[in-house]
Amino acid sequence: MTVDTRELLLSRIRDVPDHPKPGVMFKDITPLLADPVAFAALTGAFAELCVRHGATKIVGLEARGFILAAPVAVSAQVGFVPVRKAGKLPGATLRQAYELEYGTAEIEIHAEDLTPGDRVLVIDDVLATGGTAEASLELIRRAGADVAGVAVLMELAFLDGRARLEQALRGAPLEAL
Ligand code: AMP
Repeated sequence: MTVDTRELLLSRIRDVPDHPKPGVMFKDITPLLADPVAFAALTGAFAELCVRHGATKIVGLEARGFILAAPVAVSAQVGFVPVRKAGKLPGATLRQAYELEYGTAEIEIHAEDLTPGDRVLVIDDVLATGGTAEASLELIRRAGADVAGVAVLMELAFLDGRARLEQALRGAPLEAL
């Protein structure tokens, strides 16, 4: 990605202090989505990663991951698979719990959407603690597929999600655009 593209993307991310609760600096990507040039540049960069890492499927993480991953899947001509919060998917699912700062959360995938031999790239907007991405890698492997990597727009480095993900990645790349 060129320096100019990176600058463009950065300029379209809005910092919202104390959202959704005090102490959190929320990274709002809606200005980026509203700018077709920036959105296309981001989609193109993700699609390049998809090709470079030989992905055959893309998993998007609810909810902003869906918005980013779906156009990438179309452009890279690979399938899109949603990972959703527990209780939303209608079919037979695999479910994975993971720890939050306070309590736990659960995510699910339709078991039949991934098959052995699939190489899956996980896409999301923000990597924070890495808990959601780590649980999604677990789901992908439980479904019998391989992990091609994790790609995010932003990594909040001070939360050290990269370190948390390291073991789960098993050598697959974590790409933060
Ligand atoms: P985590 O599991 O802690 O890595 O959290 C990642 C998920 O929470 C992603 O799906 C993000 O969309 C969301 N998230 C966490 N922190 C932020 C933040 N500061 N700004 C925007 N989204 C965030």
